[in-house]
Amino acid sequence: MSAIYRDALRAALLYLLFSVVWLLSSGYLLNSFFDDSAERMRWQLINGYLWVLLSAGLIFIARARLLRCLGLGARLRQREADRERLRQAAAVFDCTHEGVLVTNMQGLIVHVNRAFMQITGYQSEDVLGQRPSLFKSGRHHPEFYQAMFATLRTSGEWSGEIWNRRKSGEIYPQWQTIRLVRDEDGHPSHYVAVFSDISAIKNSERELMRLAHHDPLTDLPNRLLFTDRAEQALASAQLHKRGCALLMIDLDHFKMINDSLGHTIGDQLLKAVAERLAAMFGPGVTLARLGGDEFAVLAESCPQLVQAAAMAQRIIDGLKEPFLIEGHQLFINTSIGISLFPSDALSVEQLLRNADSALFKAKSTGRNDYALYTEELTAHAQQRVEISFELRRALDLNELRVHYQPVHDLKTSRLIGVEALVRWEHPQRGLISPAEFIPVAERTGLIAEIDAWVMGQACRQMCQWQEDGVVLSFVAVNVSSRLFARRELYQQVAQVLHDTGLAPACLELEVTESAVMDDPEVALEQMHRLRELGVRLAIDDFGTGYSSLLRLKRLPVQKLKIDQGFVAGLPWDENDAAISRVIIALAQSMGMQVHAEGIEQVEQAAFLLEQGCDLGQGYWFGRPMPAQQLDWSRAPAIK
Ligand code: C2E
Ligand code: MG
Ligand code: MG
Repeated sequence: MSAIYRDALRAALLYLLFSVVWLLSSGYLLNSFFDDSAERMRWQLINGYLWVLLSAGLIFIARARLLRCLGLGARLRQREADRERLRQAAAVFDCTHEGVLVTNMQGLIVHVNRAFMQITGYQSEDVLGQRPSLFKSGRHHPEFYQAMFATLRTSGEWSGEIWNRRKSGEIYPQWQTIRLVRDEDGHPSHYVAVFSDISAIKNSERELMRLAHHDPLTDLPNRLLFTDRAEQALASAQLHKRGCALLMIDLDHFKMINDSLGHTIGDQLLKAVAERLAAMFGPGVTLARLGGDEFAVLAESCPQLVQAAAMAQRIIDGLKEPFLIEGHQLFINTSIGISLFPSDALSVEQLLRNADSALFKAKSTGRNDYALYTEELTAHAQQRVEISFELRRALDLNELRVHYQPVHDLKTSRLIGVEALVRWEHPQRGLISPAEFIPVAERTGLIAEIDAWVMGQACRQMCQWQEDGVVLSFVAVNVSSRLFARRELYQQVAQVLHDTGLAPACLELEVTESAVMDDPEVALEQMHRLRELGVRLAIDDFGTGYSSLLRLKRLPVQKLKIDQGFVAGLPWDENDAAISRVIIALAQSMGMQVHAEGIEQVEQAAFLLEQGCDLGQGYWFGRPMPAQQLDWSRAPAIK
């Protein structure tokens, strides 16, 4: 910088010096040589021209010098800046986390940076003069590299994901950008590749995918992955004209194990079930956990129903073997719903829905079995949807009715109580059974309103009978298992008793065995509170659940109602006879009353009476009927 100014200053001083010398000398010479003023004027004019010319020459020289100085300075400055830029580039090049590799146009490596060495494990002396093909992983086809170079040639740049091999032999993914560099004349001179190791990102990505598509407890595919795989399987089956089967598996009463032994054991059991199921199937079968205790199996080649049924049976039998978990020997039963492609459904969604309907059927017909999907089931499902829409309206339009079924004392044959059973008087379909709409009401939440309404009606009717002088010990009302665990039940019962003025001892609440056993601790607390109100408690459908007798003993219950399934075979079916005997003995030993339902024949009543059963209910005594049709004088003789 200073050199430029120094040069410029020197040029300016030189010009000044010339000017002074010229002026002084020309003035002196003119004065001494010419006396004649006209002559002097002429010479002064010539002198002036010469001066202008000389000045112009000097200025030209000085300017040229100055420009030369300035040009030199600019070049110097440029060189300095270039040097600085190179220094910075070298620092960036070396400090960057991205690996950098430079090749010449012959494809030989001429430069690598420190990050390159760290990522690849190679030192610069290992690779300089070599070709980048040294790092090939073998994962890409030759077409991949051909396409890469074609892009480079046409656009001068390529970026993408590429798998390379480290010095250790490990294959890893990298994100790479390659750029063609040209020299000052615009001719290609080098290729510069900048890349970063993306194995960590890839691993996280893989982990995320695994988490999103697998059940964390059992590590089986979840619903999302199952659906995805099933879609692919169906597409392939369609192409190859094969049949597939979808089995939906549900563990019976798993909740009981969870509740009684704790979630840790429940989880371990689910894991063990998953392992056992996985060991049953080979390739061509996808097993998944859809949630809770629900698993699904897709058999990709299952041409006939018989194969699917055999598979279901194999699963049921396989899971029957006890599981040993933390010293507990656990037995589980399984229900399975089967749906077939293409005969039952063409899409995964429909197959799942059908298998679910079939599973519902398997569960409702006694569990521990498999059921096949049928057209009928769809009609049922359709009906369930319609019912759920119409039920709300039925409540508002007062289409529900309460019928009462007589309960007789078996010893005296006297009618001593009634069970209130709800019906729906549908304007088109006639009287609809609660078996049809109660499960729907339970699912839609309308059950709370229905049960509250039935309870209110039954209590009011009981008060009416009492006013009319009819002597009845109790009116029994069914309480849905969905409501039994709720705290509001206590308030609701208290409110109804308060509103109607019925003596609490005249109201009996029937709770199913499974409702009690679903959450025994809550049930116990609820029952104690209800007992404090003074109402009677009965366990309905006894024998169908999985009661722990120890728990049963702790419950403040006055009555066990033998499920009608065990009464149906009496007195000839030995099994039913044995079960009824045991239940009667059990109830007696715990100081409870025994009540048999579903008595349709006198022999059944006689057998039960003989065994010491206290109360009987069934078509033989009387069907459920409107209050005004009950015959109070009826006391059929059993013997
Ligand atoms: P449940 O409480 O066990 O009622 C007894 C069922 O057996 C009644 O069926 C009754 O009509 C029927 N039954 C009585 N005697 C005989 C017989 O001799 N033979 C045969 N085959 N059946 C007999 P229903 O009225 O269809 O009720 C079915 C179930 O619906 C009831 O079973 C109960 O669980 C539920 N339910 C009925 N009303 C209500 C209600 O108001 N609220 C709730 N939550 N559930 C109700
Ligand atoms: Mg009942
Ligand atoms: Mg019952």
